[in-house]
Parts: sequence; C-alpha cells; structure tokens
Amino acid sequence: MKHLVFIGPPGAGKGTQANFLINEFKYNHVSTGDLLRKEIMSKSDIGLKVEGIMASGELVSDDLIIKIIKNNLNFKVDKYIFDGFPRNLKQASFFHEYLMSEFDYVAVHFKVDLSVLYKRLINRRVSADGKHIYNLLTSPPKMPGICDYTGLPIVQRDDDMPEVVSNRLKIYDELTKPMIEYFAKLDKLAVVNAEQEIERVKNELVKVIS
Ligand code: AMP
Repeated sequence: MKHLVFIGPPGAGKGTQANFLINEFKYNHVSTGDLLRKEIMSKSDIGLKVEGIMASGELVSDDLIIKIIKNNLNFKVDKYIFDGFPRNLKQASFFHEYLMSEFDYVAVHFKVDLSVLYKRLINRRVSADGKHIYNLLTSPPKMPGICDYTGLPIVQRDDDMPEVVSNRLKIYDELTKPMIEYFAKLDKLAVVNAEQEIERVKNELVKVIS
C-alpha cells in the first residue's frame, strides 16, 4: 500500500478519515502539529523554539519540520498518512524528491469551500475539559453554554477564534495551491469531495488507496 499525504484545511474531516484508515488498513497517522505539541510538552529545544510560533497560527520553519519528521519515522517498516505535512511547496519537493525517492505515495486533496469552513470553525465549542465537541450552528448543547455530558461550561479554543481561523485559512490557501499543482503535475494527486457525508468520503478514499 502507498503512503498517503492528506491535504485539506483544518476542519475538512481529515482526522475522521485518518482514524478509519488506521483501523481498517493499519496505517500510521503522522500529524506534524501533534509531533510539535509533544515537543512543547516535553520542553525540548525544538518545543521551546516553536511554542510562540504555533500559538500565533504562523508556520514553523521548514528545517525544524524536516528534523522532527526524520527523527520520528521509518518508511521501510510502516505505512503513513501525513496530515499537516507537507504544508508548502518547499516541503512538498523535499517530500517527493528525498523522503519518497524509494517509496510510492499519493496526495489526497480534501476539497472544501473555505467560506463554509470558516463558519464551521468559528462556531466550534468544546467542553471545558476539552473532551466533547459542539457546533453552535449544527450541534449545539441542549442548554446554551453548558456541556450535555459534564455540566461544565463550553468554551472556544484559542485557535478557533475568528482572527486566528481567518489567518490559518489564508495561510493554508496561499501555501497549498502551488503544492496541489505540484502533485498534480507529477500525477500524484487524487481529489476527494470533502463536503459530502463521512461515508461517501470514506468510499472515495478506499478507491484511491486500492
Ligand atoms: P495543525 O495541528 O496541523 O493545525 O498544526 C498546528 C500548528 O503547528 C500550525 O499552525 C503550525 O504552526 C505548526 N505546523 C504543523 N505542521 C507544520 C508544517 N508542516 N510546517 C510548518 N508548521 C507546521
């Protein structure tokens, strides 16, 4: 089976689909965001360098990203779903030419309308313990402002604040367009309509990997 690169904005459902492929096809999920958050938690040198950058929604330098990828992965043994990497053209060409030189992969573009997504993300709320997710428009709690399960207040995550969301989507759009063209030219791109319901997206994905 091929390695997979998931390309799609935050909130496009990549996490849900990754979980499905992990359970059904024994893929490993690599989120560079998660790897970076681990570095921050362990207060490593990399963690200290990236903490402020991540909080602002800006991108971490390519060199650091490449370093954590090389430190954490083994392409010969495991099959990976990359989520959040590559994030720009430079990372994409590093991925294609260097990391994947001996391996096969396909880049999957989760296509969604960004203005729809903006609305979805700024209306997302989580219970104060972070465990239950709501959407004020599509799945609000029964009592306004209170989690159905824990009785705790529901809150807005820092990275779901309108300015941060619009900044992240803008950066996403500017950086991924050239990358999508790059993979398309190499004939390595598959496009999935991520506005459909979860089951349909799953079916499209299974076709892509088989
Ligand atoms: P994510 O969890 O994928 O939304 O990533 C959270 C933050 O981690 C991003 O806003 C960036 O600051 C940083 N980050 C994650 N992956 C990358 C990457 N491939 N290149 C640069 N920065 C990244």
